[in-house]
Amino acid sequence: MIGSDSEETGDLVSRQAPLEMTPEAFRDAGHQLVDDLADFLGSLPSRKVTSSPTVSSLKSLLGQAPLPHEGTDTLGLLKEVTAQMVAHSLFNGHPRFWGYVTSSAAPIGALGDFLASTLNPNVGAWQLSPLASEIEVQTIRWIAEFVGYPEGCGGLMVSGGNMANFAGFLAGRKAKTPWDIRKEGLQNHTTPVCVYCSDATHTWVQKAADLFGLGTGAIRWIPSDRDQRMDVAALETQIAADLEKGTIPLLVAATAGTVGTGAVDPIQAIANVCERYNLWLHVDGAYGGPAAALPEASDDLKAIRRADSLALDPHKWLYSPLEAGCVLVRDPKALPDAFSFHPDYYRFDLEGEEPPTNFYELGLQNSRGFRALKVWLAFRQVGSKAFVKMIRQDIRLAQAIHAAVHEHPELEAFTRHLSIVTFRYVPHGLDMTGETRQAYLNQLNEALLEQLQKEGDAFVSNAVLKGDYVLRACIVNFRTALQDVLALPELVVRIGRQQAALLGKTVS
Ligand SMILES: *Cc1c(COP(=O)(O)O)cnc(C)c1O
Repeated sequence: MIGSDSEETGDLVSRQAPLEMTPEAFRDAGHQLVDDLADFLGSLPSRKVTSSPTVSSLKSLLGQAPLPHEGTDTLGLLKEVTAQMVAHSLFNGHPRFWGYVTSSAAPIGALGDFLASTLNPNVGAWQLSPLASEIEVQTIRWIAEFVGYPEGCGGLMVSGGNMANFAGFLAGRKAKTPWDIRKEGLQNHTTPVCVYCSDATHTWVQKAADLFGLGTGAIRWIPSDRDQRMDVAALETQIAADLEKGTIPLLVAATAGTVGTGAVDPIQAIANVCERYNLWLHVDGAYGGPAAALPEASDDLKAIRRADSLALDPHKWLYSPLEAGCVLVRDPKALPDAFSFHPDYYRFDLEGEEPPTNFYELGLQNSRGFRALKVWLAFRQVGSKAFVKMIRQDIRLAQAIHAAVHEHPELEAFTRHLSIVTFRYVPHGLDMTGETRQAYLNQLNEALLEQLQKEGDAFVSNAVLKGDYVLRACIVNFRTALQDVLALPELVVRIGRQQAALLGKTVS
């Protein structure tokens, strides 16, 4: 018998767990938080993109506080952390944030996450999340329809682009390895296997080759052009050479929107090569995939529908709050084939005409949160037409930056694909040539970027294109307007001149 002590037994009978909140306390705390966050959202445009904190300033802000042994007041705690987060964050929801591929988050998504975590369905198994599982099934169908991926496909929500790419990679590895790779692994086989991608591919592919036993040496890096598009002739030559040597080619990972320049690989030609050699075509559409929804999208972008597996990232160009990734597979069996096991402790195969979807069998996760809800809500809130319009406007704004940069005598435009523009600052009358010039401009633009990010009036990141360090603006931001992007060239030139003057003193 537990609780022989009567005081303890009493506690258990009318148990007042410290973590429990009364409905009134939850309401008060929630209202206070929503009020503070609404004020924050209203204040965003008038703030700096970042206050550029340092590691040591934040460590001293938090102090060396030990694990708290006692609790504190809920309202005060939420107030305090909200104020601190607002004071010391980088705001990717700011109208002038154009770094990496990080979007503004739709406010409906925040509300969706709140709803999802309050009800807390476990979308690993249908029985534990009946309606949530069905909403995820529907969300996957809607995402597929939005980007023009074939009806009847399978899919899964994951945490982001890396995980979506991993799932596609594993589905392809299972489907194309000529022995039972899930049982035998790579241990008992001396025949090497390999995969293909361009040298502009995101680092997910190295992690995948490493984690899933092939080793990074199994990656065949196919050269890309200055815009970062894969050289398909080189791909074919490499495949032929591998076959000749007795290596087994498994898959080609093409990219729809490279992380550096936004270039779309020649996916039609790559798909033809995959058909010819019976290879799995995986497309990384983590950035560019949603732009396939535009009627004016290029044929290569629309060719993502030919992929055997397609990685998408709703937390990028579908403006969902982190985290939300999505993998689609043409053949819905490809995911259970790659991931499913049936342990004794799960008996989820319910009776009935329609078999339930148990998402734990379709991917790497077991217990799963309800990521689909925020994406589903956003589609319902504004409709797919509004998404097409927002994506198109992001692209137009990138074109506006490109045009403005092109016209400016001290700026040099490099590439523009989808909503990514690359360019650099080149001082007036620079009389250097060759490698000296490249090294100088690289150093100058790197210093410029660091200063621009520190000042926080706008935020861009960088790319390195054939040795040239360039500034890179990527607009996946429904809050950005024309006046925001038109302010960028002057900002860059002002800081560029200042940095050139500083650098001039140190250059011999
Ligand atoms: C962002 C990105 C990834 C990785 O996605 P995460 O959501 O950061 O995991 C992979 N590939 C491309 C092309 C990307 O832009």
